Amino acid sequence: MAGSPNNGAPAAYLNYILFDNQFTYLSSGFRAISTAASGSFERLTIADILINQKGYLYIYVGNEDMSNVNVHFPATPQAWDDLKITHRKSRIVQMPAPPRAGDDYCPFGLSFNSYKRPAETPQKFKYNGKELQDELGLGWYDYGARYYDAVLGRFPTQDRFADKYHYMSPYQYAANNPIKYIDVNGDSLWIKSKDGNLLYENGTLYSRGDDGNLSEYKGKLAKLDKEGNVKRYKGILGTTVNALGKLQMKSEFANGIISTLQGSDNNFTIKPNNNTLNYAPVDIGNGRVGILNNNGYAFQVLDQGQQLVDYAPFNQIGSGGDINWNPSTGIIGLGHELGHSYDANFGMLDSRKVQINGGLEEIREIRAVYYENRIRQDLGKSLRKSYGGPRLLDGNKNPIYYSTPFLQKLMLGF
Ligand SMILES: [Zn+2]
Repeated sequence: MAGSPNNGAPAAYLNYILFDNQFTYLSSGFRAISTAASGSFERLTIADILINQKGYLYIYVGNEDMSNVNVHFPATPQAWDDLKITHRKSRIVQMPAPPRAGDDYCPFGLSFNSYKRPAETPQKFKYNGKELQDELGLGWYDYGARYYDAVLGRFPTQDRFADKYHYMSPYQYAANNPIKYIDVNGDSLWIKSKDGNLLYENGTLYSRGDDGNLSEYKGKLAKLDKEGNVKRYKGILGTTVNALGKLQMKSEFANGIISTLQGSDNNFTIKPNNNTLNYAPVDIGNGRVGILNNNGYAFQVLDQGQQLVDYAPFNQIGSGGDINWNPSTGIIGLGHELGHSYDANFGMLDSRKVQINGGLEEIREIRAVYYENRIRQDLGKSLRKSYGGPRLLDGNKNPIYYSTPFLQKLMLGF
């Protein structure tokens, strides 16, 4: 290492050069190796570089030493390219000073002061993170079930839940108070908590105020940061929100079920409960006893002291209901119960037992195990073989979907 200009170390560097999108030089920097690299490993780190416009960043290593000295990692000379670049993207927000990108908004979502840089990729997710649809020049925001017209501060079509809010116009947006309220897509998937029932929508919880309107839940079961934003939810509530979030993020199939439940006209309430109190008998009148299965979805109805007669009998209309979930069964267990809810929503909860693979199993469990296995596939987990009875995988080890011919006729029209 003798003869190096850099305090006895070779003139070898980690470098970067930053250009804008016209290849105009903006800034550069480097870190030189030191004698610490002699005979051992030295980590070269360049401090964070703030990049606030489009352009090009070149990062490279080089040995400019005029003497014939090797600079490499001790183990492998090729390891010169053991280079890690971390790209931390900023949030899409308005920046306080130029150059900045984004829009300012009136409370009802009409934009003014639109800041854009030349050659910038258009950002279509704008007000409240909703996508602006500019086809046909309408400029409506996509709110999932409906479009929203920020020019009028109204929905151009009626709320499908209008009968739940008969005291308000079916076209109103956020109860006409967009500073206080957020308009959510549906209001159908709830979580029971010590602080009342809370609406779940894509990771955020909402509570209903005394005036009947929904606003983001920031009550005692929410942990807030210094700015008053929700960081996470506490205890079993947090466990449930995290489980739903994981299912939505990691399983496209589960996300489809959850989206359907969120947007349903029926109400579903997840009741997370760690106490396993399986098979608590409940008197349901007419000399019959229901069995409340804490891990299961609905009521089992037994003749007094007799065998199973029916289980939340299916109907053509569909219904909401309670989702009893024991968090110890994990997100797969929750996925299974959500599958029952999905069937209930469409009136497909069918407790009849059918012959399958040489045994008898309830249709609703064949279907729920199918849903569960689709989620297991998305998560890369091994499939569930049965509900305790006959095998519910086909010869190719794929999950079996069971639908009675009658239900197929009913639901699919063939
Ligand atoms: Zn089940």
